[in-house]
Amino acid sequence: MDWEDSVSVIKGVGKKRVALLAENNIKTVKDVLQIYPKRYIDRRQFSLPQDIELDKPTSIKAMVLNSGDMRRIPGKCVIFSVKLLWESTKITGIFFNQPYLKGKLLENNDYYFYGKIEKKNSVFKIINPQFALVNDYENFLELIPVYPKVNGISNGILTKMIKDIIDHSQGKNDDLPESIRINYQLETMESAFKGIHAPKTEDDIKKGIDRLKFNEALMINIGILSNSGATKKSKIVIDNLTGMTALINQLPFELTDSQKSVMDDILSDLKSGQIMNRLIQGDVGSGKTVIAIITGCIMAQNGYQMAYMAPTEILAQQHGRNFKKILSKMGITVEIITGSLKTKERREISRRIVTGETSVIIGTHALIQESVEYYNLGMVITDEQHRFGVKQRGKFALKGDQPHTMVMSATPIPRTLALILYGDLAVSYIDELPKGRKPIKTYCYDEVSLNKILGFLEGEVQKGRQAFIICPFIEASEEMSEVRDIETIFLKLTRFFKDTYQLSFLHSRMLNCEKEETIQAFNQKKIDILVATSIIEVGIDVPNVSVIVILSAERFGLSQLHQLRGRVGRGKHQSYCFLVTNSKSKETLTRMNVIVKNNSGKKIADEDFRLRGPGDYFGLKQHGLPDFKMLNPLEDMEIIQRTKELATTLFDSKQKEVVRYRENRLNEFLMEIEEISLN
Ligand code: ADP
Ligand code: MG
Repeated sequence: MDWEDSVSVIKGVGKKRVALLAENNIKTVKDVLQIYPKRYIDRRQFSLPQDIELDKPTSIKAMVLNSGDMRRIPGKCVIFSVKLLWESTKITGIFFNQPYLKGKLLENNDYYFYGKIEKKNSVFKIINPQFALVNDYENFLELIPVYPKVNGISNGILTKMIKDIIDHSQGKNDDLPESIRINYQLETMESAFKGIHAPKTEDDIKKGIDRLKFNEALMINIGILSNSGATKKSKIVIDNLTGMTALINQLPFELTDSQKSVMDDILSDLKSGQIMNRLIQGDVGSGKTVIAIITGCIMAQNGYQMAYMAPTEILAQQHGRNFKKILSKMGITVEIITGSLKTKERREISRRIVTGETSVIIGTHALIQESVEYYNLGMVITDEQHRFGVKQRGKFALKGDQPHTMVMSATPIPRTLALILYGDLAVSYIDELPKGRKPIKTYCYDEVSLNKILGFLEGEVQKGRQAFIICPFIEASEEMSEVRDIETIFLKLTRFFKDTYQLSFLHSRMLNCEKEETIQAFNQKKIDILVATSIIEVGIDVPNVSVIVILSAERFGLSQLHQLRGRVGRGKHQSYCFLVTNSKSKETLTRMNVIVKNNSGKKIADEDFRLRGPGDYFGLKQHGLPDFKMLNPLEDMEIIQRTKELATTLFDSKQKEVVRYRENRLNEFLMEIEEISLN
């Protein structure tokens, strides 16, 4: 069979299974081969009675002592037990619901058994073991792959399917030219798949993994090359910095050393004559916005426009106010453009943008709609970049005539991932918080303590502070009654606080103008306590807030919790974060503890990675990161480096044509390359 064939060619795969597999996005034979084992059962490891590790599966060699005993427990199950001699120790083999075993195990014969061993009242038992006659050892003493869960298809069926493929795919063409394979000492794809799915030794697995990782790394590098292209000359001239200096002097605070050094990076990019492509990475609250404001001032004073894209309407409005407040003092015009503008307003604003009357434009992705045209866009900035798809950012940069681009992110993206997401880009780090910030005190409580927490919150409000209370849901849900919602909590708070404080709520189902009004009122301290969904997760900046209570905290990911917590501790006040959960699950409590113990986004990201693996690094997957199958982009830096050069060679050899990289198209790309000389 061919790897590109439909799964229906595999033995035992009929219409129903084709449909089930399709639901899991498994359509071709190759897709099946790319379900990689998550671990292996090693039946070659034997245990002896004296060194047995209980409750862990292992192999033993034992002799059958009797013909066994079949017991039926009415309405429950059938138990077959057989006495065995293991070295000089007696052990009982226990089999549940396998009545057909009667007579299968022959007295006085030696067998291999593989299963979990228990010891009760100093009697050994091996539970539901797999077994084989010692003469049959070839098929028994194996490394057996265990596959990740594929909905609707059991591990056993999957194993059979893969065996059928391996048995019927000999002499397949490799997608890498032989010269390259030999040069890099790689297995063929055929033996790589065999190595991981039907290994004889650990070495088979390792070699298979090496080859599969190599492919992924190579594909990534080709992707990076085709996404970025060489740095290009920029036509934008920046020579007036007087406004910038004046603006910095007018700020109510002094820039941190990190912020100053980021500004140096930006200035040197602007003067380099090349098109800038820079990522500004700084933890929540480190002060990225002011960098964008200063940059806006530079662009405007040199006769260019700057557009700044925020992920939500609320944020666009907040930034808009901020930019206006600071830039209007410098005589720079700022305009906000979002999806909720009325047609007439939009037309008027669009006009001012296309004529160049407005210099700095803040908005949501309304900024990249076709109807918006710019006069002379010199710089585009995307805030909280990971919330946009790669495509949207690409579209943004196409708006002007090769503008500079900058992205800002609080997500601590490792260098490799940044490369994959953004192509070849420079990175500046803001690695300190503004002076005087106190670390946020974080606690995790069961919900029975909620009244006490509210009591504490009240104390803060009496001191003049404000508070957020976060619920995952807007209204109560019957199916998930354990998850807190705004409606119920809002009622509870009204009863708890009577009329003493101003309470309000904020969620996505409100009209844009209502949201805007609420946020404004909260900003102006007309609201003391705001009950909200994670709608306030990114960006909201109200330095007077000192408490955030997150209900049903188990419902949020670590990056989200860190972002939510980042809504407090933005000013000089000591701030507090309460994670409230009724969950007793060890996994949840471990995750909560990560937030309680760590204040730095980088550390939390590392922990998130450790707990969940690279599969969905900090929620980046839906934002254009390829689906890593074998490669661990954080640990396999070396192989990514090693394939970089090859990718360049391959890429250059195809330079004449326009190469567009598409995920999973590596083999087609490579197939077209006939002869490559590698020195
Ligand atoms: P983020 O990096 O999360 O986008 P912001 O840019 O919203 O952070 O800044 C958080 C808060 O810190 C804002 O209120 C901002 O005015 C303030 N801020 C920024 N830089 C400084 C600084 N150097 N000193 C004091 N406060 C600052
Ligand atoms: Mg921000």
